[in-house]
Amino acid sequence: MPQQEQYRQRSRALSRETLDLITELGLSANPINFAVFFAYVEKSNDDLVALIDILRSNQRDLDDLKCHELYQRFIEPARVELLREAVSNDLQRQLSELISSLSQGKDHINADALRAAANNLFGNTSGQTAKTELVTDNKSDPAQPEVTQLLLDLEEMKREAHTDGLTGIANRKAFDESLRNAAMATMEGGDCLSVLLIDIDHFKRINDTYGHQAGDQVIRTLAKALQQNVKGRDTTARYGGEEFAVILPATAPCDAMRVAENIRCTIEQLHLKSENRNEDIGRITASIGVATYQLGEPLTRVIERADKALYLAKANGRNCVMSQDDLPPQQIKHAQSA
Ligand code: GH3
Ligand code: MG
Ligand code: MG
Repeated sequence: MPQQEQYRQRSRALSRETLDLITELGLSANPINFAVFFAYVEKSNDDLVALIDILRSNQRDLDDLKCHELYQRFIEPARVELLREAVSNDLQRQLSELISSLSQGKDHINADALRAAANNLFGNTSGQTAKTELVTDNKSDPAQPEVTQLLLDLEEMKREAHTDGLTGIANRKAFDESLRNAAMATMEGGDCLSVLLIDIDHFKRINDTYGHQAGDQVIRTLAKALQQNVKGRDTTARYGGEEFAVILPATAPCDAMRVAENIRCTIEQLHLKSENRNEDIGRITASIGVATYQLGEPLTRVIERADKALYLAKANGRNCVMSQDDLPPQQIKHAQSA
């Protein structure tokens, strides 16, 4: 089927779905509601979809006024952007016409033509700017408190869903997302992307000797120390119980080893005290596995190599860093064909 026909059929189906939903929700079938719910059924804006889902699941009033707020918040800015592009293209066309008419006239400039072109340019621009400002102003209209509050709540919910409750650093879900994004950037940019897996040595003993709360405190202290040892573009995450992971974009294997070694030294030098019992916990150590992403491979493989390198570090007596290059060849092969 030709692409245009496919597009027509899809938009007809989406329009029907939109109208059904508007009717089901008891809303007026006006162009504003239609635009909002078309974007919703088309899932063209994640935040809009999430907000409407929240409103629907909480059985909050989803009336024409609320739809108008959603329209101003989500649909109108996209239209203004399109308008801006159109204006900018028009300005460019007019400017090139002006330049070409000037150059054709050689050293004789036709003042009337210049004035007409300038009027044309500035007349258009000022008109469009005023329109744009008017629309942009609506964004901060204090008459839209609920949508604003919902948006803030949504941001907060997103942040919470990506944060580890104990340490405040990225959780496993955020780690997976960051790794996916970093791998995509690596495929575009061709840099190296390295990953560290860090596991506290004999952590069970800390819990057994000083209690679970002291164990939690150690995990929190370690998370802070990790963050202080990496750059802003790197992601530090709590990967599991007493395991952490660090994503190092644009970092070659030898530099990743250096970062890992710095982290290992920092952990070794931490001096820990249990707050609740005021006891000296002494020192802890950690083992670290380092791996580097190979372009195009599934992300599970780089994690698997880092995990195997970590296991090797444990087997080698702990408190050390091992990389995928230290793995026996058959283990690398296994990680590549898994
Ligand atoms: P290894 O050197 O081989 O890593 O030894 P380990 O004792 O650290 O390893 P193991 O996996 O046997 O034990 C990890 C322990 O970490 C077991 C679990 O009770 C503890 N743990 C996991 N999550 C938490 C947590 O959130 N808080 C506390 N306090 N302990 C945790
Ligand atoms: Mg562990
Ligand atoms: Mg451990």
